[in-house]
Amino acid sequence: EIPDRPVLEVKNLVKHFGGVKAVDGASFVVPEGSITGLIGPNGSGKTTIFNLIDDTVHADSGEIWLDGQRIDGRPSWDRAHRGLGRTFQITRLFREMTVLENVVAVQRTFSVAQLGRVAVSGAEARAADELLEYVGMRAFRDQKAHALSYGQQKLVELAQILMLDPKVVLLDEPAGGINPALIERMGEMIRELNSYGKTFLLVEHNMPFVLGLCDPIHVLARGRTMTSGTPDEIQRDPAVIDAYLGD
Ligand code: ADP
Repeated sequence: EIPDRPVLEVKNLVKHFGGVKAVDGASFVVPEGSITGLIGPNGSGKTTIFNLIDDTVHADSGEIWLDGQRIDGRPSWDRAHRGLGRTFQITRLFREMTVLENVVAVQRTFSVAQLGRVAVSGAEARAADELLEYVGMRAFRDQKAHALSYGQQKLVELAQILMLDPKVVLLDEPAGGINPALIERMGEMIRELNSYGKTFLLVEHNMPFVLGLCDPIHVLARGRTMTSGTPDEIQRDPAVIDAYLGD
Protein backbone atom coordinates (compact mmCIF):
# COMPACT_ATOMS: atom_id res chain seq x y z
CA GLU A 1 0.00 0.00 0.00
CA ILE A 2 1.37 3.41 -1.00
CA PRO A 3 1.07 5.80 1.96
CA ASP A 4 -0.87 9.01 1.36
CA ARG A 5 1.38 11.95 0.70
CA PRO A 6 1.03 14.48 3.53
CA VAL A 7 0.36 17.99 2.23
CA LEU A 8 0.59 19.31 5.79
CA GLU A 9 2.34 17.73 8.73
CA VAL A 10 3.03 18.86 12.28
CA LYS A 11 5.66 17.14 14.40
CA ASN A 12 6.04 17.50 18.15
CA LEU A 13 4.46 20.93 18.16
CA VAL A 14 4.73 22.71 21.52
CA LYS A 15 3.24 25.98 22.78
CA HIS A 16 3.03 26.82 26.45
CA PHE A 17 1.40 29.99 27.79
CA GLY A 18 3.11 30.46 31.13
CA GLY A 19 2.21 27.30 32.99
CA VAL A 20 -0.54 26.30 30.56
CA LYS A 21 0.57 23.57 28.16
CA ALA A 22 -1.83 24.56 25.38
CA VAL A 23 -0.05 22.39 22.79
CA ASP A 24 2.26 19.78 24.23
CA GLY A 25 3.86 17.67 21.53
CA ALA A 26 1.06 17.36 18.96
CA SER A 27 1.90 15.39 15.80
CA PHE A 28 -0.39 14.58 12.89
CA VAL A 29 -0.58 14.52 9.11
CA VAL A 30 -3.07 15.93 6.66
CA PRO A 31 -2.95 13.64 3.61
CA GLU A 32 -3.13 15.34 0.22
CA GLY A 33 -6.69 15.30 -1.07
CA SER A 34 -8.22 14.55 2.33
CA ILE A 35 -10.78 16.27 4.49
CA THR A 36 -8.98 15.81 7.79
CA GLY A 37 -10.73 16.47 11.09
CA LEU A 38 -9.19 17.74 14.32
CA ILE A 39 -11.39 17.14 17.35
CA GLY A 40 -10.98 17.20 21.10
CA PRO A 41 -12.58 18.61 24.21
CA ASN A 42 -12.57 22.34 24.98
CA GLY A 43 -9.10 23.47 25.92
CA SER A 44 -7.36 20.54 24.22
CA GLY A 45 -5.38 22.92 21.97
CA LYS A 46 -7.23 22.88 18.65
CA THR A 47 -7.37 26.64 18.11
CA THR A 48 -3.80 27.09 19.27
CA ILE A 49 -2.66 24.48 16.74
CA PHE A 50 -4.38 26.44 13.95
CA ASN A 51 -2.69 29.59 15.27
CA LEU A 52 0.68 27.85 15.20
CA ILE A 53 0.15 26.48 11.70
CA ASP A 54 -0.51 29.93 10.21
CA ASP A 55 1.87 31.72 12.63
CA THR A 56 -0.83 33.81 14.28
CA VAL A 57 1.05 32.52 17.36
CA HIS A 58 4.73 31.49 17.34
CA ALA A 59 5.48 27.89 18.34
CA ASP A 60 7.94 27.18 21.17
CA SER A 61 9.25 24.17 19.28
CA GLY A 62 8.30 21.52 16.77
CA GLU A 63 8.10 21.31 13.02
CA ILE A 64 5.45 22.26 10.47
CA TRP A 65 5.75 20.96 6.92
CA LEU A 66 3.69 22.25 4.00
CA ASP A 67 3.92 20.49 0.67
CA GLY A 68 7.32 18.97 1.48
CA GLN A 69 8.88 22.15 2.83
CA ARG A 70 9.46 23.20 6.40
CA ILE A 71 7.48 26.38 7.13
CA ASP A 72 7.85 26.89 10.88
CA GLY A 73 9.98 29.98 11.35
CA ARG A 74 8.50 31.51 8.20
CA PRO A 75 6.16 34.50 8.49
CA SER A 76 2.40 34.25 8.04
CA TRP A 77 2.31 35.91 4.62
CA ASP A 78 4.94 33.48 3.35
CA ARG A 79 2.92 30.49 4.56
CA ALA A 80 -0.15 31.92 2.81
CA HIS A 81 1.91 32.45 -0.33
CA ARG A 82 3.01 28.80 -0.19
CA GLY A 83 -0.57 27.61 -0.18
CA LEU A 84 -1.96 27.77 3.34
CA GLY A 85 -5.46 29.24 3.69
CA ARG A 86 -7.40 29.68 6.89
CA THR A 87 -10.79 30.80 8.12
CA PHE A 88 -11.44 31.95 11.67
CA GLN A 89 -14.05 31.00 14.26
CA ILE A 90 -14.92 34.70 14.46
CA THR A 91 -14.85 35.92 10.87
CA ARG A 92 -12.35 38.65 10.10
CA LEU A 93 -13.91 40.55 7.23
CA PHE A 94 -13.24 44.25 6.81
CA ARG A 95 -16.53 45.59 8.13
CA GLU A 96 -16.61 48.82 6.15
CA MET A 97 -15.68 47.21 2.84
CA THR A 98 -18.14 45.61 0.48
CA VAL A 99 -18.40 41.87 0.06
CA LEU A 100 -16.68 42.08 -3.33
CA GLU A 101 -13.88 44.28 -1.98
CA ASN A 102 -13.35 41.83 0.87
CA VAL A 103 -12.94 38.90 -1.49
CA VAL A 104 -10.50 40.84 -3.68
CA ALA A 105 -8.60 42.46 -0.78
CA VAL A 106 -7.37 39.11 0.46
CA GLN A 107 -4.88 39.09 -2.43
CA ARG A 108 -3.32 42.38 -1.34
CA THR A 109 -0.94 42.83 1.52
CA PHE A 110 -2.72 43.33 4.78
CA SER A 111 -1.57 46.95 5.11
CA VAL A 112 -2.95 47.90 1.71
CA ALA A 113 -6.26 46.24 2.47
CA GLN A 114 -6.39 48.08 5.78
CA LEU A 115 -6.49 51.42 4.00
CA GLY A 116 -10.10 50.53 3.37
CA ARG A 117 -10.25 51.20 -0.34
CA VAL A 118 -9.51 48.53 -2.86
CA ALA A 119 -9.31 49.31 -6.56
CA VAL A 120 -10.88 46.25 -8.14
CA SER A 121 -9.80 45.29 -11.64
CA GLY A 122 -12.18 43.64 -14.08
CA ALA A 123 -10.36 40.32 -13.92
CA GLU A 124 -10.37 40.32 -10.13
CA ALA A 125 -14.04 41.21 -10.00
CA ARG A 126 -14.88 38.35 -12.38
CA ALA A 127 -12.92 35.85 -10.29
CA ALA A 128 -14.49 37.13 -7.07
CA ASP A 129 -17.98 37.13 -8.59
CA GLU A 130 -17.57 33.52 -9.65
CA LEU A 131 -16.62 32.48 -6.13
CA LEU A 132 -19.41 34.56 -4.60
CA GLU A 133 -21.82 32.88 -7.00
CA TYR A 134 -20.47 29.49 -5.89
CA VAL A 135 -21.01 30.17 -2.19
CA GLY A 136 -24.41 31.74 -2.89
CA MET A 137 -23.45 35.32 -1.99
CA ARG A 138 -23.27 37.04 -5.38
CA ALA A 139 -26.45 39.02 -4.68
CA PHE A 140 -24.70 40.63 -1.69
CA ARG A 141 -21.53 41.68 -3.53
CA ASP A 142 -22.04 45.43 -3.07
CA GLN A 143 -23.21 45.33 0.54
CA LYS A 144 -20.91 46.29 3.39
CA ALA A 145 -19.64 43.28 5.32
CA HIS A 146 -21.03 44.56 8.62
CA ALA A 147 -24.58 44.25 7.24
CA LEU A 148 -24.25 40.48 6.82
CA SER A 149 -25.45 37.76 9.16
CA TYR A 150 -22.86 35.52 10.79
CA GLY A 151 -23.63 32.68 8.38
CA GLN A 152 -23.33 35.01 5.39
CA GLN A 153 -19.98 36.25 6.69
CA LYS A 154 -18.78 32.65 6.87
CA LEU A 155 -19.74 32.11 3.23
CA VAL A 156 -17.93 35.28 2.15
CA GLU A 157 -14.90 34.18 4.15
CA LEU A 158 -14.92 30.87 2.30
CA ALA A 159 -15.01 32.72 -1.04
CA GLN A 160 -12.17 34.93 0.22
CA ILE A 161 -9.99 31.94 1.09
CA LEU A 162 -10.72 30.24 -2.24
CA MET A 163 -9.62 33.40 -4.07
CA LEU A 164 -6.06 32.52 -3.01
CA ASP A 165 -6.46 28.98 -4.38
CA PRO A 166 -4.65 27.44 -1.39
CA LYS A 167 -3.31 23.87 -1.37
CA VAL A 168 -4.73 23.27 2.06
CA VAL A 169 -7.59 25.10 3.74
CA LEU A 170 -7.85 25.28 7.52
CA LEU A 171 -11.47 25.73 8.56
CA ASP A 172 -12.15 26.78 12.14
CA GLU A 173 -15.63 25.52 13.05
CA PRO A 174 -17.24 25.75 9.61
CA ALA A 175 -20.53 24.40 11.04
CA GLY A 176 -20.44 26.52 14.21
CA GLY A 177 -23.18 29.08 14.85
CA ILE A 178 -25.07 28.60 11.59
CA ASN A 179 -28.50 27.13 10.86
CA PRO A 180 -29.02 23.46 9.90
CA ALA A 181 -29.69 24.20 6.23
CA LEU A 182 -26.46 26.15 5.97
CA ILE A 183 -24.55 23.45 7.86
CA GLU A 184 -25.70 20.99 5.22
CA ARG A 185 -24.73 23.37 2.41
CA MET A 186 -21.34 23.99 4.03
CA GLY A 187 -20.72 20.23 4.16
CA GLU A 188 -21.71 19.86 0.51
CA MET A 189 -19.38 22.65 -0.57
CA ILE A 190 -16.44 21.22 1.37
CA ARG A 191 -17.06 17.79 -0.15
CA GLU A 192 -17.43 19.25 -3.64
CA LEU A 193 -14.30 21.42 -3.37
CA ASN A 194 -12.48 18.36 -2.07
CA SER A 195 -13.60 16.38 -5.11
CA TYR A 196 -11.96 19.10 -7.24
CA GLY A 197 -8.72 18.43 -5.36
CA LYS A 198 -8.78 20.85 -2.42
CA THR A 199 -7.38 19.50 0.87
CA PHE A 200 -9.05 20.54 4.14
CA LEU A 201 -8.15 20.45 7.80
CA LEU A 202 -11.07 21.35 10.01
CA VAL A 203 -11.69 21.92 13.69
CA GLU A 204 -15.31 21.30 14.54
CA HIS A 205 -17.48 20.53 17.56
CA ASN A 206 -20.42 19.19 15.59
CA MET A 207 -19.70 15.44 15.76
CA PRO A 208 -22.20 14.23 13.14
CA PHE A 209 -20.72 16.82 10.76
CA VAL A 210 -17.14 15.66 11.41
CA LEU A 211 -17.95 11.95 11.33
CA GLY A 212 -19.85 12.34 8.06
CA LEU A 213 -17.20 14.41 6.33
CA CYS A 214 -13.70 13.78 7.67
CA ASP A 215 -11.18 11.00 7.16
CA PRO A 216 -8.76 10.80 8.86
CA ILE A 217 -9.82 12.27 12.18
CA HIS A 218 -7.20 13.22 14.78
CA VAL A 219 -8.30 13.34 18.40
CA LEU A 220 -6.52 15.76 20.71
CA ALA A 221 -6.34 15.58 24.48
CA ARG A 222 -4.31 17.98 26.62
CA GLY A 223 -2.37 19.35 23.67
CA ARG A 224 -1.41 15.98 22.22
CA THR A 225 -2.75 13.71 19.52
CA MET A 226 -4.41 10.94 21.50
CA THR A 227 -5.42 8.85 18.50
CA SER A 228 -6.08 9.07 14.77
CA GLY A 229 -8.27 7.01 12.51
CA THR A 230 -11.25 6.69 10.24
CA PRO A 231 -14.66 7.84 11.54
CA ASP A 232 -15.49 4.19 12.30
CA GLU A 233 -12.26 3.63 14.21
CA ILE A 234 -12.68 6.85 16.18
CA GLN A 235 -16.26 6.03 17.12
CA ARG A 236 -15.28 2.56 18.35
CA ASP A 237 -12.16 3.62 20.28
CA PRO A 238 -12.90 3.18 24.01
CA ALA A 239 -10.34 5.84 24.97
CA VAL A 240 -12.01 8.35 22.66
CA ILE A 241 -15.47 7.49 23.96
CA ASP A 242 -14.18 7.89 27.52
CA ALA A 243 -12.33 11.13 26.96
CA TYR A 244 -14.63 12.81 24.55
CA LEU A 245 -17.60 11.26 22.83
CA GLY A 246 -19.05 9.92 26.05
CA ASP A 247 -19.65 13.32 27.65
P1 ADP B 1 -9.43 24.42 22.07
O1 ADP B 1 -9.44 25.20 20.79
O2 ADP B 1 -9.24 22.96 21.88
O3 ADP B 1 -10.64 24.72 22.92
P2 ADP B 1 -7.29 26.22 22.84
O4 ADP B 1 -6.19 26.03 21.87
O5 ADP B 1 -8.19 27.39 22.64
O6 ADP B 1 -8.16 24.87 22.93
O7 ADP B 1 -6.71 26.33 24.31
C1 ADP B 1 -5.82 25.38 24.88
C2 ADP B 1 -5.36 25.88 26.23
O8 ADP B 1 -4.49 26.99 26.08
C3 ADP B 1 -6.51 26.35 27.12
O9 ADP B 1 -6.20 26.02 28.46
C4 ADP B 1 -6.46 27.86 26.92
O10 ADP B 1 -7.00 28.53 28.03
C5 ADP B 1 -4.98 28.12 26.75
N1 ADP B 1 -4.69 29.31 25.92
C6 ADP B 1 -4.98 29.44 24.60
N2 ADP B 1 -4.55 30.64 24.14
C7 ADP B 1 -3.97 31.26 25.19
C8 ADP B 1 -3.33 32.53 25.37
N3 ADP B 1 -3.19 33.40 24.36
N4 ADP B 1 -2.85 32.82 26.60
C9 ADP B 1 -2.98 31.95 27.62
N5 ADP B 1 -3.56 30.75 27.53
C10 ADP B 1 -4.05 30.40 26.34
